Amino acid sequence: MLNIILMGPPGAGKGTQATRIIDAFHIPHISTGDIFRENISKGTELGKKAKAIIEAGGLVPDDLTIGLVKDRLSQDDCKEGYLLDGFPRTLAQAEALKAMGPEIGRPVTLVIDITVPDEVLKERIGGRRVCPKCGASYNIHSMKPVQEGICDRCGAELIQRKDDNPESFMVRLQNYYEQTAPLVAFYEKEGIYHHFDGMVGLEKVTEQVAELLKANR
Ligand code: AMP
Repeated sequence: MLNIILMGPPGAGKGTQATRIIDAFHIPHISTGDIFRENISKGTELGKKAKAIIEAGGLVPDDLTIGLVKDRLSQDDCKEGYLLDGFPRTLAQAEALKAMGPEIGRPVTLVIDITVPDEVLKERIGGRRVCPKCGASYNIHSMKPVQEGICDRCGAELIQRKDDNPESFMVRLQNYYEQTAPLVAFYEKEGIYHHFDGMVGLEKVTEQVAELLKANR
């Protein structure tokens, strides 16, 4: 069963790999960041609470985040697997996810962690453009869409995320090291942790991840 968590610092290539995994393995992509951004653009209560925090690079409070993931994982399309992207980001979220696993019958089976050195992350974030509609990621230097400014996958106009600025990036990176990095030990202990070096290149990472997923589905 492919009940997957995708981990890694901002700019490690999570979004790109997520798109490839869901296209190849046909499991739903649950990105808490995408869910928050959608709520912000629709102006919902959740969006109003999360907007300033997200734009500054902070973490949305655990109680809000955990509740929305539980609701989402309980939906029917997650029965045959799911890809959680950007959740959990704190130990409290990881504990909550573990506790909800047996309850909803969908415990995590694999953790994929992609890492890249900080200098490279910073460079990538500056050039990143994303599709607000399907979540695909591009880079104006290294991964251009076929037609400038337009998503190859769905044809929507690409945007730069509000939190992809140097100040918010530094806050996100610091949160990653302080709050999210401890999850490595947590999932190593669970025996489901798999590390991938993001510096070998996107294609190679995709190949290595696909191999792991094929062996575990
Ligand atoms: P992402 O698209 O995963 O980079 O997420 C964008 C932003 O949404 C993050 O910088 C946080 O502000 C917020 N966010 C996404 N997922 C979480 C989470 N699991 N816990 C807290 N905040 C989150």
